[in-house]
Amino acid sequence: MSEKFQAVVIGGGPGGYVCAIRLAQLGLKTACIESRGSLGGTCLNVGCIPSKSLLNLSEEFHKVKNLSNKGIEVGEVKLNLNKMMKSKDKAVTVLTKGVEFLLKKNKVTYFKGHGSFKSKNEINIKDADNKETVIGADNIIIATGSVPVSLPGIDFDEKTILSSTGALKIEQVPKKMVVVGGGYIGLEMGSVWSRLGAEVHVVEFLEHITPGMDREISQEFMKILKKQGIKFHMQHKVEEIKKDSEGAIVSTSDKDGNKKDFDCDVVLISVGRKPNTEGLNIEAAGVELDEKHRVKTDKNFKTNQNNIYAIGDVITGPMLAHKAEDEGIAVAENIAGQSGHVNYDTIPGVVYTTPEVASIGKTEEQLKEKNVDYKIGKFSFMANSRAKAIDDAEGFVKILADAKTDKVLGAHLIGPHAGELIAEIGVAMEFGASSEDIARTCHAHPTFSEAVKEAALSVDKRAIHS
Ligand code: FAD
Ligand code: NAD
Repeated sequence: MSEKFQAVVIGGGPGGYVCAIRLAQLGLKTACIESRGSLGGTCLNVGCIPSKSLLNLSEEFHKVKNLSNKGIEVGEVKLNLNKMMKSKDKAVTVLTKGVEFLLKKNKVTYFKGHGSFKSKNEINIKDADNKETVIGADNIIIATGSVPVSLPGIDFDEKTILSSTGALKIEQVPKKMVVVGGGYIGLEMGSVWSRLGAEVHVVEFLEHITPGMDREISQEFMKILKKQGIKFHMQHKVEEIKKDSEGAIVSTSDKDGNKKDFDCDVVLISVGRKPNTEGLNIEAAGVELDEKHRVKTDKNFKTNQNNIYAIGDVITGPMLAHKAEDEGIAVAENIAGQSGHVNYDTIPGVVYTTPEVASIGKTEEQLKEKNVDYKIGKFSFMANSRAKAIDDAEGFVKILADAKTDKVLGAHLIGPHAGELIAEIGVAMEFGASSEDIARTCHAHPTFSEAVKEAALSVDKRAIHS
């Protein structure tokens, strides 16, 4: 064995690299193993960052094309997709290199290679040249993330049948794109290609998009996306996808058995992701998985083995980068003898479409199911002066508060900068605030955040501007 560490993290995604940095900050001799050749995981390489870059660039393109409606005349607006992709790739490179710098700065040893268990305390690392190194570890943290799932019998070729990874690097704007699954990825990537000129059809199994989201928000969301030109085929399931010389034919049937075929250039399959434990040789460490093949952990992220932990997409819970990061910090603090903790009631979820959609805490459906007596405060961006001033006034803020105590139980927003506005509610919820606390907090004028204040006032039926 060449070297021994107090902690070894397998996976350099937002869960893994953040965990490694925190462990090193707490004084542990730490290593982080990453197989993809660059740090930052799914999030920085093929997830959050490139998708948000393309969402922003495609939105800029769309906006510039429509500026003349606002009295700004521009010449002919042309798309240079190749340059746009380079701009996205640059954002990824800068950020992944930034993470490498952070590991170095914090004295975390970075191993480039594939990690697998040799035993409970030993990890084998195979690099790109198949050279193997074995390192020892007192504590091991599995942070190997997740990978896209396809439909039964259908393989991604990333040219015609795409996962999110392929949808981030299409070389020519497709004329027609079918998106299977109306969740986070389908709606974000569908929006990108729709704005760049593709006719986008979303085929969704359920009767609503973004399952788990507050139903009123999800209905408003679909209405807005339809207005933008995205076509929805709800309660449809895909029976078959056949590739042909032009692209593919997606055969579907609806809930009554009616069949419909879609000819398209590309199909994006975005029906979820699965935990990634492949090639870990997890059996050698005796670590148990659950029925969904996630690494099974207790509330302190410990597996059934005393010195082995797991965090992020590879364990239960929402597959979100900030959830993985917070778990990475909590587990590092636990290993160092502190009391790390993640509050799963205040993890925000954001869809970065236009408008953005953001939610935190309980939905109305969840409160009803639990027989909780609640009050609702709502405020439309149509009555928010900043939103009206810049002609970006679609959507609303909805706050749910306990009927008796007024404690904020959840908030759901659709509208401009919803992903930023939700942070205020997160802080409020962490402090156990009431809707009155938010309503009595001075918010700058004119800002979008005044819509949050007004929604809070509206819980007690005393909004001023509606
Ligand atoms: P990952 O980021 O998946 O990192 C795991 C890393 O481990 C990978 O780099 C992998 O190469 C490495 N690895 C796996 N096995 C081994 C091994 N045996 N040896 C060495 N290395 C290994 N979340 C958000 O919160 N906001 C967003 O806007 C958002 N957008 C997304 C957009 C897309 C298109 C996708 C696909 C995902 C998006 N997500 C978003 C989800 C987010 O990317 C994940 O929740 C997050 O990356 C999970 O972090 P993680 O550290 O658990 O795993
Ligand atoms: P998802 O779980 O968000 O959505 C999957 C959708 O596919 C659901 O609406 C589901 O009903 C539908 N579906 C499932 N099987 C189907 C079938 N056979 N036919 C038609 N529809 C079907 O999954 P995703 O969009 O693939 O994203 C994976 C994960 O990545 C998300 O859960 C999310 O945690 C993460 N992500 C987050 C962000 C963000 O935070 N902005 C962005 C992208 C991805």
